[in-house]
Amino acid sequence: MTPAEPMTPAEKEVADLCVELIRVDSSNYGDGSGPGERAAAEVVMSRLAEVGIEATYVESEPGRGNVVTRIEGTDPSLPALLVHGHLDVVPANADDWSVDPFAGEVRDGYIWGRGAVDMKDMDAMMLAVLRQIKREGRRPRRDLVFAWVADEEAGGVYGAKYLTAHHPELFEGVTEAISEVGGYSLEVDPSLRLYLIETAQKGLAWMKLIADGTAGHGSMLNDDNAVTEVAKAVARIGEHDWPLTYTPTVRRFLTEVADAFGIPFDEENPQPILDKIGPLVRFVGATLRHTTNPTQLGAGYKSNVIPGQATAVVDGRFLPGFEDDFFKTVDGLLGPKVRREFIHHDIALETSFDGALVESMIAALKEEDPAARAIPYCMSGGTDNKTFFADLGVRGFGFVPLRLPADMDFAAMFHGVDERVPVDALQFGVRVLDRLLLNY
Ligand SMILES: [Zn+2]
Repeated sequence: MTPAEPMTPAEKEVADLCVELIRVDSSNYGDGSGPGERAAAEVVMSRLAEVGIEATYVESEPGRGNVVTRIEGTDPSLPALLVHGHLDVVPANADDWSVDPFAGEVRDGYIWGRGAVDMKDMDAMMLAVLRQIKREGRRPRRDLVFAWVADEEAGGVYGAKYLTAHHPELFEGVTEAISEVGGYSLEVDPSLRLYLIETAQKGLAWMKLIADGTAGHGSMLNDDNAVTEVAKAVARIGEHDWPLTYTPTVRRFLTEVADAFGIPFDEENPQPILDKIGPLVRFVGATLRHTTNPTQLGAGYKSNVIPGQATAVVDGRFLPGFEDDFFKTVDGLLGPKVRREFIHHDIALETSFDGALVESMIAALKEEDPAARAIPYCMSGGTDNKTFFADLGVRGFGFVPLRLPADMDFAAMFHGVDERVPVDALQFGVRVLDRLLLNY
């Protein structure tokens, strides 16, 4: 970073664009009751139109707005790169916040508001870089497809999933994608900053457990009680001590962090390494093993009536490459009297940390931060990258480049109270993105 250099147009406007997007409440309640993404999509459309960029507007349902545009590269033989961001945000309870979550206040060098990191920051960075590229008449080597989508926070049904199902032509030739939850820095010391690039995501299995038993009077003998059976299965699953299981991504991540901090990687006890990454452990702590957390129970309607059926819900998250192992173990824990059904089942993802795109991300980071070292990581949640992979075979990365202050609790910002992003991190981000998108 060379502070003496004058700011680029993208650096100058990225904060304003982020504020403008935050001021549009696009809360997604998951039940269709929210304001939708149309107004946020209109901001994107008008900012693109201002510089002469035409975009396709797609409404999956009234109010559920998506914007997609393509900028043609100079080399049509190269596959296209997708850059995507979601326009919806999770709701915010204003009473909990120290600022109005939809005012887009700029204070102490930060932009405050719902979506500041998840992910109107990237939405604005995409806009700023695209406007800059267009205004300066530069062209990337490959086609770049920019997509601002609806509904990521509720599974992407009205966003990514709708677009890949109904408008796959918009993504023609796309083989790789970058999007949220990766690319941010973890400072080891002033001479070394790790940038965590997301290359893997756990899979998801929301399972309903069902036990059928013999209904009857609560005063009589009953050795076929559905409540007892489901309770036993829930206890077994909830208490199960899932063993440490290292995917290639997690192994590489722990090796890199251990090396950066100068401590050994003890496979039996990785905790000292996790201790080094501070609050970021929230993103990766659950990626060293499968997890199964019971979340709901249901049975019965009266104190003295044994119901014929009892149910429970378990939130299961499995590691990429270990799905069979996960379900085999779960089925063993269920026991013979309890069966399971999926409420929701989503794939796990893992891609290797190599290839030209990875090299370009590393190079772009190092150009802007000589202390940068990029490392891959697996996240325990999921993003729209799953949809683009499952439906179109697109290899996805989490890469929203942000150079963060050493003491910032970044993980707490996601869906958190007082969500905020440093203005200079956004400026760093557009410089990195500009380099990446133009040079790759
Ligand atoms: Zn998000």
